[in-house]
Amino acid sequence: SVGKPERMHQVSELITRDAEPTIVVLSALSGTTNSLVEISNSLAENDKKSASEKIAVLEAHYRSFIQTLLKEASLQQKANEIIDEHFEFLKITQRISLSDALVKDILAQGELMSTKLFSLYLEQIGVDHALIPALEFMRIDANDEPDLSAIEEKINIVLANHPSKKLFITQGYICRNAKGEVDNLKRGGSDYTASLIAAAVKASVCEIWTDIDGMHNNDPRVVDKTVAIEQLSFDEAAELAYFGAKILHPT
Ligand code: ASP
Ligand code: MG
Repeated sequence: SVGKPERMHQVSELITRDAEPTIVVLSALSGTTNSLVEISNSLAENDKKSASEKIAVLEAHYRSFIQTLLKEASLQQKANEIIDEHFEFLKITQRISLSDALVKDILAQGELMSTKLFSLYLEQIGVDHALIPALEFMRIDANDEPDLSAIEEKINIVLANHPSKKLFITQGYICRNAKGEVDNLKRGGSDYTASLIAAAVKASVCEIWTDIDGMHNNDPRVVDKTVAIEQLSFDEAAELAYFGAKILHPT
């Protein structure tokens, strides 16, 4: 739900509501992952012109996002440097040969940017926090399944490095695979990341904030006037996700 700067403002309010230690998992800005998929597809088709046009459109979107998100010139400059770095990488991909591993690196840019920009916004409003890189602790095994014991071991080490912090920001969706390469938990994976982290740190609660108020009794994109279901068992939720409800990752 961090598609617009105002939404980042709202997220900052949500996460500072109470004094409980909190880990915030952010997805990419809306539309970014889709656009990164399209860029990868253009590169795979060797259509460099279309890839570079799509990269330019995405970059322009981030430049204007920063203008609205941040007020101080020094923070805007930092944000522009972050965007420079990530778009420099995207532009380089046009000149090197595409591999599966490179596509996954491309797909990881959205969450890397959203979390860095959000961290700058928290700096602007004076909210103490640590940005912890998901690539240091999110792991999948050789079968592409999350390696919960590795995640648990690694995230606790990362958290212990920041004994005075109560608020942590990290990336959803992205992880490393058994070969140590950048990988991801498949589309819509940010809430899956949040669930895995919640399990790994034995959190008392895992809240998922998204662009709909809950699981509905029907698909609101197809049916008018659906209502959110107040309580749902895990099995029912899993079944709805399996049959296409987008609010939860099917796994
Ligand atoms: N950004 C990723 C995607 O669009 C992960 C997520 O949004 O949960 O699939
Ligand atoms: Mg997303």
